[in-house]
Amino acid sequence: PAASSPAPHVAVVAFPFSSHAAVLLAFARALAAAAAPAGATISFLSTASSIAQLRGAAGGAGGMPGNLRFVEVPDGAPPPAAERAAAPVPRQMELFMAAAEAGGVEAGLEAARAAAGGVRVSCVVGDAFVWPAAEAAAAAGAPWVPVWTAASCALLAHLRTDALRADVGDQAVSRADELLVSHPGLASYRVRDLPDGVVSGDFNYVISRLVHRMGQVLPRAAAAAVALNTFPGLDPPDVTAALAELLPNCLPLGPYHLLLPKDTNTAAAAAPAADDPHGCLAWLDRHPARSVVYVSFGTVASPRPDELRELAAGLESSGAPFLWSLREDSWPLLPPGFLDRASAAGSGGLVVPWAPQVAVLRHAAVGAFVTHAGWASVMEGVASGVPMACRPFFGDQRMNARSVAHVWGFGAAFEGATMTRAGVATAVGELLRGEEGVRMRARARDLQAAVAAAFAPGGACRRNFDKFVEIVCRA
Ligand code: UDP
Repeated sequence: PAASSPAPHVAVVAFPFSSHAAVLLAFARALAAAAAPAGATISFLSTASSIAQLRGAAGGAGGMPGNLRFVEVPDGAPPPAAERAAAPVPRQMELFMAAAEAGGVEAGLEAARAAAGGVRVSCVVGDAFVWPAAEAAAAAGAPWVPVWTAASCALLAHLRTDALRADVGDQAVSRADELLVSHPGLASYRVRDLPDGVVSGDFNYVISRLVHRMGQVLPRAAAAAVALNTFPGLDPPDVTAALAELLPNCLPLGPYHLLLPKDTNTAAAAAPAADDPHGCLAWLDRHPARSVVYVSFGTVASPRPDELRELAAGLESSGAPFLWSLREDSWPLLPPGFLDRASAAGSGGLVVPWAPQVAVLRHAAVGAFVTHAGWASVMEGVASGVPMACRPFFGDQRMNARSVAHVWGFGAAFEGATMTRAGVATAVGELLRGEEGVRMRARARDLQAAVAAAFAPGGACRRNFDKFVEIVCRA
C-alpha cells in the first residue's frame, strides 16, 4: 500500500458458540495469512470464554499468525462470572445477542482499534449469525462482509422465511411432505426439511429469531461480498440462481477448512500425537482400504439412550470395524460389555471421546460415515469422497440430509429419521459393500474431484478467496 494509506485492519466477528467460533477462527487464520503481504492486521472478536476455549484448542497462541490478535466482546452476562458459565447455552446466546445489539460489537471494534495502536477497523468480516455487526460496521464507516458457515439452501430458507411462513402458515404438520415447488431454489425440499424455526418449531427460540433477523438484514447490508461455504459444482443451478437474486455478491469459497495454508494442514497431519491423543489414525493404519465406518454426531447432538444402544448393536451386527467419536458422558449408556467387546483383540471397534475428524475422513481405511449431517461434517466427508448415512437431529441438519440423499446422492438418510439396529447394519453394509454404496461413493468421488480442482492453484475457490481478501483489504 502507498505510504499515505493506512494498512488494512480487518475485524473478524465470531458467533461464540458450538462449532461456529472454531470455523470462524480457521477462516480468520486463513485470512490473516493471505492478507499479510498487504500489511493487514486481523482482530478476532469473540467473548472471553470463547477465546479461552479457542486458545486451549489451538495449544496456546503459538500456532497463530503474527498479524492476528484476539479481542474481547461483551458476553452480556451480568456478574458474577460463575453464574455466567452456569447459564444454559440458549440463555448465554440470548445474553450475547442482546449485548451485541446494544453496542457490544461497537465496543469490540473500539477495543480492536485501541489494541492496534489507534488504527481504525477498515472492514468488518463476521459470522452472518451476528447480524448486529452490520450496524456496528456502518457506524464505524466500514463495510460488513458476512461469512455464512452452513449450506446455501439453508441460507436461502432463512432469506425466504417470511414468504415461507406466509405460504405454509400453521400447516407445517399437515403439509410436511409437500415439496416447496413455488419457492425458487427450494423445489427439492419438503416442508419438513426446512431448518427449525423457519415454518415450524419455536419462533421465539434464540436461534430462530437470530436467523430470521439475519435473513432480513443480509440483503440490504451485505453489499460488498458474502462468503459461502460451498464450491462451484455443488449447489444445483436453481439454488445458486435464487441466492444470487437476493445476494448478488456471493463468493463460494468452501469448504473453509481447506482455506488454511497448506503447510498448516500438513503440519497438523505430521504431528498426530498432539492432535490425536486417542490414536485414531494409528488404529486406522491397521485396517484395509475403505473397510471402516466412522461415526460422529458433531459437537452438540446426541442420540437418546435407546437409539444410542440401537446404533451400538447395529454397528456390532454390521461386522464392519468402526471408529466412533462419542462424548464420554454417553459411554455409560452403551450396551453392557460393548466397550470391552469393541476393544477386544481381533474385533474391530474403537470408541473415543474426540477424533481428528478431517484427518480421519481423509484416511484410506474409512469407507463410510454415519453423521448428524452438520454442514462442516458433510463438507469434510465430501472433500474426502466418503459416502454417508445421515441421522439429522435439529437446526439445518434435516435439510442437509435431504441434500445428501436426494439432491447429490452421495449418501442415504435413515428410514423414519431414527437409527435402529437393523437400519444401521443395513446402511453400513450398503455403504461399504453394496451396489448402491458403489454408486454413492462414485458421486462422492466426483465431488471430491471438484473440491480438489476448486482448491488447486488457480482453482475457483482459490480465486474467490483471493477476491474476498482483495475486497476486505481494499476497504
Ligand atoms: N469434530 C471433530 N472431532 C470429533 C467430532 C467433531 O473434529 O470427534 C469436528 C468436525 O470435524 C466438524 C465439527 O467438529 O468440523 C462439527 O461441525 P458440524 O457443523 O458438522 O456439526 P455441529 O457440531 O456444528 O453440530
